[in-house]
Amino acid sequence: MILRQIAYIDTFVADNSADFAIAHSPQEVRTLVHTTTKTIIVYSIEGGRNLIHSQDDANFWAAKGVAFITLVHLKDYEVGSSAVMPGFAEHLLNLKGVFRKESKRGLTDVGRQTILWMANAGIMTDVTHMNDKTRTDAIAFMNSKGLPVLSTHDGFKPLQNQPRGIPPQDVLAIYKGKGLVSLPISMGMYKPTAEYRAKLDSLPCYCERSIDSYVFTYKALNKYIANNLPTVFGDSAKTLQSLNPQELINISVGFQTDFNGWTSHHRPRYGRKGCYKLNPDSIYNPIDVKGLVHPGMLYDNWQLLQSEGVDLSTIKRASEKFLLMWQQYLDNRGKY
Ligand SMILES: [Zn+2]
Repeated sequence: MILRQIAYIDTFVADNSADFAIAHSPQEVRTLVHTTTKTIIVYSIEGGRNLIHSQDDANFWAAKGVAFITLVHLKDYEVGSSAVMPGFAEHLLNLKGVFRKESKRGLTDVGRQTILWMANAGIMTDVTHMNDKTRTDAIAFMNSKGLPVLSTHDGFKPLQNQPRGIPPQDVLAIYKGKGLVSLPISMGMYKPTAEYRAKLDSLPCYCERSIDSYVFTYKALNKYIANNLPTVFGDSAKTLQSLNPQELINISVGFQTDFNGWTSHHRPRYGRKGCYKLNPDSIYNPIDVKGLVHPGMLYDNWQLLQSEGVDLSTIKRASEKFLLMWQQYLDNRGKY
């Protein structure tokens, strides 16, 4: 199935080579960025179930150019456990996870071994979709091995207080280990802390599950990291102003999301599906009247944020951070 999907993308890119390119290494990304304006595709796999049972398996996927694998997806399996989101469908998908004690749902020895096989092949482990215990275990294990942790599309527990939210101390542990957290654009608030609830309530305009939810989470996460730089860098003198360009790259917050055809991304702020009435005399960004309904609207998404004064510098730096992490994994193949 995954090989068929890769073959589909390979053919699609070959047929549309004026606009798209596949990069199989950080260097290929850099060359394409500097020499073309093509959309660059990097392969990753969401769900490591049944994929990697040996070093050879990991090497096989690395040879295809796979940069990272989201080890756990919607079900508990032999490597570790999955975050069961509030909602009926997710529970049905993972009945095993629903009925097992949380304390028993951590990263297993098989999980640790799989992370090492992947690292030895140059593939990063994405801790997204893990339940809290498996994620905490994976971060501690990867940090102990000097393997930066990638988290591509979970939330921030103080705002998304459900199993897909990363607790603040784990966010800091990821950055201490030179890892990267990216945020999805498909999460609203879920039982935020009283402090954040008060902040949300004090905003003059806030439309839940619209682009506003993403912006609020993005700003809160950036601020939390900025407020804890001494912990992240192990240096009590660190302030945002004192960071050099390399250190700024290290505290990037990226963006990544599931364009799988069924995940709902942000709804519009205006009109029938939004929070506010459309004014016939106003001109709106398409995101504000349609929401983010397909990946082709990502440009509109960033344009809208820019026009509203959101500082996107940490998202922009996240691409460089991702490449540096991938390169580090490739440079250290076979050492774990
Ligand atoms: Zn996902």
